[in-house]
Amino acid sequence: MTSHARDGASADGSMNHLLARLPSVDRLLGLAECRSMIEAHGRKTVTESIRAELEAVREEAASGIAPGDLADLLVRIEQRVAAASRASLVPVFNLTGTVLHSNLGRALLPDVAVEAMENAATRACTLEYDVDAGARGDRDLLVEPLLRRITGAEAATVVNNNAAAVLLVLNTLAARKEVLVSRGELVEIGGAFRIPDVMRSAQARLVEVGTTNKTHKTDFENAIGPKTALLLKVHTSNYAIVGFTSGVSRVDLAAIARARGLSTVEDLGSGTLVDLGRFGLPKEPTPQEALRAGIDLVTFSGDKLLGGPQAGIIVGRRDLVRRIRRNPLKRALRVDKLTLAALESVLRLYLDPDRLPERLPTLRALTRAEHEIKAQAERLVPMLQKAMSGVANVTVEACRSQIGSGALPVERMPSYALVVRPQGGQPRRTLTRIERGFRRLATPVIGRMAGGALFLDLRCLDPRHEAAFSAQLAEFRLPPP
Ligand SMILES: *Cc1c(COP(=O)(O)O)cnc(C)c1O
Repeated sequence: MTSHARDGASADGSMNHLLARLPSVDRLLGLAECRSMIEAHGRKTVTESIRAELEAVREEAASGIAPGDLADLLVRIEQRVAAASRASLVPVFNLTGTVLHSNLGRALLPDVAVEAMENAATRACTLEYDVDAGARGDRDLLVEPLLRRITGAEAATVVNNNAAAVLLVLNTLAARKEVLVSRGELVEIGGAFRIPDVMRSAQARLVEVGTTNKTHKTDFENAIGPKTALLLKVHTSNYAIVGFTSGVSRVDLAAIARARGLSTVEDLGSGTLVDLGRFGLPKEPTPQEALRAGIDLVTFSGDKLLGGPQAGIIVGRRDLVRRIRRNPLKRALRVDKLTLAALESVLRLYLDPDRLPERLPTLRALTRAEHEIKAQAERLVPMLQKAMSGVANVTVEACRSQIGSGALPVERMPSYALVVRPQGGQPRRTLTRIERGFRRLATPVIGRMAGGALFLDLRCLDPRHEAAFSAQLAEFRLPPP
């Protein structure tokens, strides 16, 4: 049928005969099975899948595997069409024990934020329109009043993420000038955000001050020169320097800068807007505190501890925020209406901090009671043990969750996990297969491997999704090695 098949004159004649009988693309497209696939997934996807599957059959034949019949071929085409049509961004169960997992989408939004996003997405809205004045408005004004109320800042603006916020602040205030940073704060966080690199992209010159473990006021004072523009403080969000250490306090840093007409900026990283201590969590610095100590501008993420959408928030002195807004980079880094809709509704929740743990999913996960997680584990263990029968033992064990996304790197919260330990020979290989089996479920389950076992930390298993989680356990299959 194709030159491809005929060329193989030296190959086994019967194989050539089978290949010659493969239906053509056009004939397959005309079959009822393929017509219904076209109806559901479109002609392009089906045609491409047919071509790819015929090609795969010919390649198999070349290595001696005989093609199946038409029914086999149609099943293969259907599977390929289904795979090509599957979304790539799909929900998973985050049972890693890391609440704000950067690779798994960080903060989960509350329902009110989702509603606000839906409205903004599906209807015309006041993104840059002042209804009272009947004139053009400014998208920053949708959240600035709330940010001012919550943080006490004079002004605020929002960009795409905190990396963008730092870049924009440095570029606006320190392009072709020097920025002083303590050597203990030259942070690298995941995803290639490194202070020295961001500094270069912003066209600012980094001047390192002090040593890794100790930086003194005099180190900053002595490093200030005619080209110095600002003093930068970076929250060491994913590590801790302990032992013989000292740093320069915000109050001292602000005083040094003010005496010389310079500005201070703090990259807070996670930046929670409430004192987490009131919910029994370890303390993280807040933008309020930084501003009160005299820092001029503070930047932080929207989707870390704040529990909102991905965003970078800049709060602080009005004159500096005004300069930032005028930077053409601000236009390039601005946020869209969906982000603003979600951010506004999440910020509104902060006006009633007492109810935050029940309303904000991030805080709800972080403050879940140990006994509640344990009870959930005990409810689920029989079903999981059944799914693992003959393959692994399942136990309920105490474990420790972490906040993640560079908040409180050394703190751990007591939690409970379903712990899956392989039985029989070759436990390490079996464990790898078990882990893969969980990832292959309809809603992939992502756990954490440690000490020869798979830990499924239940802190982030929302009770609303518990039934769906246990229902799909019956579908677990141990994949081939
Ligand atoms: C997370 C973090 C950033 C980057 O924030 P994104 O919102 O992910 O861009 C920058 N600085 C610090 C200290 C951080 O912890």
